[in-house]
Amino acid sequence: MTATAPRYMTRFRCLADACEDTCCAGLVVTVSEARWKRLRDAVAGGPDAARVDAFIRPDDGSGPGAEAAVIAKREDGHCAFLDERKLCSLHRAHGEAVLPDACATFPRVATRWGERLEVVGSLACPEVARLCLLAEDGVELGPASEDVAVRPEIARRIGGDAWTEHAEAVRAVAVRLLQRREVPFASRLFALGQLALRLDGFYFRGTEAFSRGAESLPTEQPQAAVSDEAETLLADVLRSFDAPETLTELHDGFSALVLPGGPWAGICATVLKSRMGSVRSERFGTFARAVLASYGGAESPDEVWRIHSERRQQLNPVLADRVEQYFRQHAVNHWLRHPFTDAPTLLDYVFRLTLRASVLRWALFGHPTVVALCESGAEDAARLDAAAVECFQLIAKHVEQAPELHSLAQGLAGQGGAETLGRMLVLLKGL
Ligand code: SF4
Repeated sequence: MTATAPRYMTRFRCLADACEDTCCAGLVVTVSEARWKRLRDAVAGGPDAARVDAFIRPDDGSGPGAEAAVIAKREDGHCAFLDERKLCSLHRAHGEAVLPDACATFPRVATRWGERLEVVGSLACPEVARLCLLAEDGVELGPASEDVAVRPEIARRIGGDAWTEHAEAVRAVAVRLLQRREVPFASRLFALGQLALRLDGFYFRGTEAFSRGAESLPTEQPQAAVSDEAETLLADVLRSFDAPETLTELHDGFSALVLPGGPWAGICATVLKSRMGSVRSERFGTFARAVLASYGGAESPDEVWRIHSERRQQLNPVLADRVEQYFRQHAVNHWLRHPFTDAPTLLDYVFRLTLRASVLRWALFGHPTVVALCESGAEDAARLDAAAVECFQLIAKHVEQAPELHSLAQGLAGQGGAETLGRMLVLLKGL
């Protein structure tokens, strides 16, 4: 078994009590039946037995990723087992082996691609966000020691059908597109949307095109391609999107489109507001209130768009390059951290990534530090970096995987195909 990881993951060390956040703050921590039993066995007859009985309760199944049990939270959103130094009291007394999988592995996410184990980090951890976003080479995949994974035995396995067997090849082209800096970030996402649309008719979850052959391919494809195998068509499409002229042509077409920014600003504000009532985290609450206040309460989408675009024009050009890096690294890490094969189609995945990037862009330019940098025109990369880490980490932790964002994305995306790509344009124009 070989292991790979982005460079930032090989540099990662948990900051423990020096961390500005706590892994479990504001999140639901679930416990599997096996880990629950193991923990009960470990504390049996000791001083922690009563606490484990009281604070770990059967999961009612209402949350995402339901398991046998969930750990209770204190009023401030922190885990009931956290001690006064912000460290886990169960870990300290009984060791790593008794922890639920989510606690033991966070912020690492391990996936098996065939024989290869890939370990990526979650930007919900501020140290991962820092290492991933701020180092130019942070998201480069390279060999890593298997020690980079914790509990590799629970790594997800990707593969087993045509949708997943071709996923690495598709992902590689997508990641290369995202890294092509000769056109703006929004144009690269638009190109990803076009790539997804080209594949939409025959490459999706549950596709049988690869087993039945040419007759299941979409008829609107060129005749020569229709007569080929699905593998050949897939390879042709991927090759064409690797060609520099494809991206340039798509960029030319995309940049000629004129769309209003108000709807984009309205969608971003809706996402943030939807989370404010349900997240129990003082850090997130303070951040979200500051962002909304900076946009005057975000009641008028057109006015919010005016404020937002003005700030972006004011930002020092050196810092604008830095912002491009954050979004590029975030998007690449998203492809590594969240296999697109979890989505029903590639287009659905790209649409949701575009929505996430939109909310991040809008929130970043509402961060008080970024607002001050825009207004002064100062070239203070360290302050911008600190604001970006806070923004990306809090949004990753409390917004990006939230049910509110998923249901909004579902409604916005429409019926799929050209309709979804058309709706994606509204989001892209704000990026
Ligand atoms: S959020 Fe990251 S750095 Fe902070 S305590 Fe958790 S794993 Fe460590």
